[in-house]
Amino acid sequence: MQAINRAATSQADLSACESEPIATPSAIQPFGALLAVDDETGRILAASANAGEIIGRPTASLLNGRVESIFGPGSFQRLRGLVRPEAELSESYVESVHVNGIDTDFDLFAHRADGVLLIELEPAQLQSATEVEAFFGAVRRAVADLQNAPTVERVCDVAADAVARLSGYDRVMVYRFDANWNGEVLAERHADDMSPFLGLHYPASDIPRQARELYRRNLLRLIPDARYEPVPLLPPVNPLSNVPIDLSLSVLRSVSPVHLEYLENMGVRATLTASLLKHGQLWGLIACHHRTPFHPAFRVRVACELVARTASLQITALEDAGENAYRLRLRTLQPLLLDAVDRRGEFTEAISNDALLQIVEASGAAIKTEGEPILVGTTPRMRDVRAILAWLQERDGAEGDRPFATDCLPLDNPDFTAIKDSACGLLAVPLSTTRGGWLLWFRPEVIRNVSWGGEPTKPVLDDGKRISPRKSFEIWKEVVSLHSTPWESSQVDAAVELRRLVSDVMMRRAREYAHLNAQLARSNQELESFAYVASHDLKEPLRGIHHYAQFLVDDYAPQLDQHGKEMLASIAGLAQRMERQIQSLLDLARVGSDEEYERVTDANEALTEALQMLDGRLSGVDVRCDRLPRVQIAFARLREIFINLIGNAIKYNDKPQKWVEISTSASTKTPDDGERGLATFVVRDNGIGIREKHYESVFRMFKRLHARDAFGGGTGAGLAIARKIVEQQGGAMWVESIPGEGSAFYFSIPLGEE
Ligand code: ADP
Repeated sequence: MQAINRAATSQADLSACESEPIATPSAIQPFGALLAVDDETGRILAASANAGEIIGRPTASLLNGRVESIFGPGSFQRLRGLVRPEAELSESYVESVHVNGIDTDFDLFAHRADGVLLIELEPAQLQSATEVEAFFGAVRRAVADLQNAPTVERVCDVAADAVARLSGYDRVMVYRFDANWNGEVLAERHADDMSPFLGLHYPASDIPRQARELYRRNLLRLIPDARYEPVPLLPPVNPLSNVPIDLSLSVLRSVSPVHLEYLENMGVRATLTASLLKHGQLWGLIACHHRTPFHPAFRVRVACELVARTASLQITALEDAGENAYRLRLRTLQPLLLDAVDRRGEFTEAISNDALLQIVEASGAAIKTEGEPILVGTTPRMRDVRAILAWLQERDGAEGDRPFATDCLPLDNPDFTAIKDSACGLLAVPLSTTRGGWLLWFRPEVIRNVSWGGEPTKPVLDDGKRISPRKSFEIWKEVVSLHSTPWESSQVDAAVELRRLVSDVMMRRAREYAHLNAQLARSNQELESFAYVASHDLKEPLRGIHHYAQFLVDDYAPQLDQHGKEMLASIAGLAQRMERQIQSLLDLARVGSDEEYERVTDANEALTEALQMLDGRLSGVDVRCDRLPRVQIAFARLREIFINLIGNAIKYNDKPQKWVEISTSASTKTPDDGERGLATFVVRDNGIGIREKHYESVFRMFKRLHARDAFGGGTGAGLAIARKIVEQQGGAMWVESIPGEGSAFYFSIPLGEE
């Protein structure tokens, strides 16, 4: 997995090592000799100053001599043939050789660099045939164990164990680099009297960038004695090109004095380091340390390298399988989420689904579509989520609809330092379907064990040029402490993919809703115009029936008997009643037609007029009025509501001393009334009251609780119309009552500006 590496504050840059010529030191370690040979002619161009001593003749006499003079006739062509064109160090071992004139056998390594054939000689450490056999048995077992290791941790442990047993170093550590090149010790074997480094971290600056590049190319590095005296090359540059020879792939290459100082500070005298690679990139290291000089034979080093290579393969396979499993899991999570979205209608309602968090391995998430963000899992408080959204929105201008991922939100914006426990890592994907819509995922700060792996036994003076391990550690600790685990690129991809899928669903839903809304609006309008036309057209014939019935009563009464007269009177009465009902229907249909509702009305004025219009019916009634606010409603509509409610208050009242009180109330029906700025009015009376089971039915059209003509009669339309008017304004109307004592009719209307 390639981690999103936004924490690009490369600690390695702090290191003075960055500029050191570590590939071209023009010197080697003294455990062997180096000859640089002209690849065309076989002439020796340069030699390490110790070559003469090792080979048994003066170094000066070697220069400009021929390779054959050391290794015998035909040896140059043979060596040339044996060196592979693009050889890595590990392939540079050529053969065990005998040097003319001396008894020692040598391991010979050869490779090409800058057109020069570099030949390195290391005195061979001989082993008996039985030793070799036992050794290879151990190697074989180690390789088999590595291949059977089921987890990356287990691979590391097996590797540490195998290398420790095969090599005999005091301490063997396997460590892995994170996205920012900090190392963590995953496995370790050490001598009983040493303290463990397992779980410790090494800042990236401990292994500078160019050293890492060398590790990638050169899989195995050996320092048998860190206190060695470097052996210069004579001459220090390639005489053909006048530049120092590139010793990157050399076995004997002299290492940086800073590195030696670092080892000294750690009490380490000898090291062997093998690289762990994944898809050609440095994944980690197997680092072997010894407290005294230690020089394992070439064969042992090869065995360690074999362990490292097998471990690399197994780690790669396991991590690739892990990534595949993640992608597979994604494929099952995505439909789960989408299915929930589809079934529940709204994305925001489906999010309790854990899949949302699992999809990117986050601990919390927020979804912002319309309205307030919805929070899932462990998140910052709503206020902070809103602040993050505002910040994202502001910086979004430059980013377009690209996702934003950070594992160090507090470093991107110090305002968010306080919420690092829930949102140190942020993955944000803008939603294209909703303006200002976002999907956010959070990860907490990972408080790592920030003990430095290489606590120096002696403090290092930081002279401003050289790397000081202690200082680099302090800086690293600070940076690491404000980080979450990084977002893997596959997780960012998954988030973007989810955005696409969700957007599709939301788009489809939006289209469906728009279609439904249009249909609804149309049928509403049709219904209203139908009611209007129907009731209007019905009124005419009804009025006719009423009139003719009346004429009959007036002109033909004497010809009718009592029963006939009563029936005629009933016809006239029923016709009149029907006319009134039709008028009510007409009124109801008109509510919501083309009137201007957004007008602001002073409720006191509407009330005053209503009282004037009710005047005749108010005699002897104690009317109490409070000061009322200005509200968003047409004047005539509010007046109509007052007439209706106050009229009822008097009408449904059997007390000798009637009273009605009009005031405002704190009582609300909707929880967010306060935010929406609604005023609640209340019309209270001391009338007959309403039983609780009728609280809703009184608002039904043509519903009366009493006999047709009781309490002065009525159509049962007044409250239905009043409630419809109020609802048109975004308010509500309801009743509370104590039967026998009185009722209180409440209604809310948006406040008008003062
Ligand atoms: P109407 O007054 O024409 O019958 P309304 O819709 O205004 O129609 O009222 C519906 C019913 O609710 C009334 O018939 C009455 O039974 C009951 N009601 C309305 N207001 C009150 C009140 N203030 N006190 C008691 N009952 C009432």
